[in-house]
Parts: sequence; C-alpha cells; structure tokens
Amino acid sequence: NKFEQLGLNESLLKAILDLGFENPSEVQEKAIPLLLEKDTDMVALAQTGTGKTAAFGFPLIQKIDADNRNTQALVLSPTRELCLQITNELKNYSKYEKGINVVAVYGGASITEQAREIKRGAQIIVATPGRMQDMINRGLVNIKNIDYCILDEADEMLNMGFYDDIVSILSDTPDEKSTWLFSATMPQEVARIAKQFMSDPLEITV
Ligand code: AMP
Repeated sequence: NKFEQLGLNESLLKAILDLGFENPSEVQEKAIPLLLEKDTDMVALAQTGTGKTAAFGFPLIQKIDADNRNTQALVLSPTRELCLQITNELKNYSKYEKGINVVAVYGGASITEQAREIKRGAQIIVATPGRMQDMINRGLVNIKNIDYCILDEADEMLNMGFYDDIVSILSDTPDEKSTWLFSATMPQEVARIAKQFMSDPLEITV
C-alpha cells in the first residue's frame, strides 16, 4: 500500500481503505512525508480537486494528541461550504482514532451552539475567518496554544477580503507552531502573509 509507505499509521490506513483511495495523489505524495517527518512550515501551490484536503488532513490527524482535549489545530477556509466539507473529511479520516473532535465554525449559524461544541473539547477547529474573529473577540475560543495552523485556499480567502481577519487571527496564535498554507495561486497578499507568519517554509508545487 502506497499510503503505508508515506508513513501513515494503522487507523488512518483503515480509514483510507474505507474512503476507497487506492493511490496517493501528487500533492499527497509530496506533502505527507514532509509534514509527518518534522514540524515544519509549508507552502503548497495546489488547485482544488488535487486531493489537498487529505494532503494536510492525514498528517494532521496523525499528529493530534487525542488524549489532550485542548484545541491543537486551526484550519481556516474561505466559505461555509468548504468549512463543512473539510470538517466532514477530517471526521472520516479520524473515525478509527478515538477522542478526536473536529468542530466547524462559520457564519450564518448559531454562535452559541458552536461555542458549546468547542467547550466540549475541539482538538481541531475548522473555521471561516469572519466568524473565527468574532468568536475570538467574544472570548469563546482559545487558540493561544495551537500547534498547527492550516490556511486552505489562501488566495480565495484574501480575494474575499479576509486579509485583516487572517492577520488578526494569526496574531492570536503562538509563534511556536507549524503553518501549512495551501493556495492555487501566489498573489502578493498571500506572499505577504507567508512572509509575515511563516519561517523557512518548505515549498511544493503540483
Ligand atoms: P480535494 O482537492 O481535497 O477537494 O479533493 C478532491 C476529491 O478527490 C475529493 O472528493 C476526495 O475525496 C478525492 N480524493 C482525494 N485524494 C484521493 C486519492 N488519493 N484517491 C482518490 N480520490 C481522492
């Protein structure tokens, strides 16, 4: 099994079997071993549909400490639809790993209910930038100790005008963490975020 050669553990391999993925996609083949091997920053240039959710999702699930209830990872994505889709995928990836909770945080739904879910323990939060900023402002979430931050479709988020929210959210996270940035293109604003918040990122292109 080619996924096994990438270094993924038993519970992920079982989940991958259920998903029906037979071979890793190019972005998965490039990103997964690097992200598993050490804690590093990464910039990945990859379009949607290339399998990038699993490229960050598999290593992320493997690295989360299921015995620790604190929020360890934040995934930022541009839209509610994408946010729900990623949440659903991460839940599928972690189905054989007991105790990992993934919570979606997005606008247009009850903030109280989302806060309640986080309070029950959310190792991974998948959020849109506007609602995430709102939750931080209201003190409903703590991302001061996260180990991993993933910026998915960074160019899209910036196109949608989330620059200030992203800067503010990232400023609320610790310096000592790994940041994985995925983007289809590398416009100036994305490069500026990478420069300001990442250190010596590995770069992959598919
Ligand atoms: P994404 O680019 O993450 O939105 O993924 C696009 C689609 O490809 C999703 O429906 C995934 O379930 C599917 N997919 C991701 N990785 C693989 C793989 N290694 N083999 C087959 N399908 C995959």
